[in-house]
Formats: sequence, C-alpha cells, structure tokens
Amino acid sequence: MARIGKKPAKGKNGQADAVAERVLECAHCGLNVPESEGVREHGRFYCSDAHRLAGPRE
Ligand SMILES: [Zn+2]
Repeated sequence: MARIGKKPAKGKNGQADAVAERVLECAHCGLNVPESEGVREHGRFYCSDAHRLAGPRE
C-alpha cells in the first residue's frame, strides 16, 4: 500500500502540531491512524479512501 510521505507543514509557528492528535481505528482493517490522515463516512472512520470504499469489516 502506497504511503504518502511527510505531511505538509501547516502551522505558522508549529505550535498547533504540538497538540496531541486524536487517533482513530479503521473500521476495515483496525489500523490506528491520526484523524487527519483518514476519512470518515456514515459515522465510521477509515485509514484510507480504499478502505472507505471497501467498507467496514467485523
Ligand atoms: Zn484500513
């Protein structure tokens, strides 16, 4: 699975990045990923667009 490299720097002074980011579990594969790197649909969270399309798995 291809992984995008570094996140682009978004803060002006970097302070925002110091805040702990929420990590959520992918409804398809169970991987824990930062909320900003995943996607949401119908109240569920996925690690990637591919898994969003694949749907939840129990
Ligand atoms: Zn996943």
